[in-house]
Amino acid sequence: MAASLEVAYIFRRHGDAFRQAHAGHLGRVERRIMGAITACRTAALGGHVEQCDDCGTTRVAYNSCRNRHCPKCQGSARLQWLADRQAELLPVPYFHVVFTLPALASGIAFQNKAAVYAILFRAAAETLTTIAADPRHLGAQNLAYNIRRFVWLRTKYAAA
Ligand SMILES: [Zn+2]
Repeated sequence: MAASLEVAYIFRRHGDAFRQAHAGHLGRVERRIMGAITACRTAALGGHVEQCDDCGTTRVAYNSCRNRHCPKCQGSARLQWLADRQAELLPVPYFHVVFTLPALASGIAFQNKAAVYAILFRAAAETLTTIAADPRHLGAQNLAYNIRRFVWLRTKYAAA
């Protein structure tokens, strides 16, 4: 079985060059995350012995970094979150609609999260209800929706 490409492998192979190329733009947090992902499940973090409760078989495993940005450590949490969301779905068609704030409003939203997101959620709900009720679209009198806030931040590297 071929090994899959991992972020840790890319960091190990190209991390030093990346750090040097972006030395002026990489902060302490980004460097710490890269270090955690690189060290995750390697001898650098030590290890532990796992034992099966049924048969007593033991194995030595390297410790995890437990960093919230680590794809290995958060992989099972992500899969569980997806399974939980899929369990909530009804057997009906779903539509994914995205509402975004203009870039100029991002500073206001950052400083006034509760107020701005309350306005955005209310406007999104009213828009969906209005459009769905229109006979040219769904003509629906009852509409169920689930609004979630996702924050998309452009990194400072996007233009590089
Ligand atoms: Zn990890």
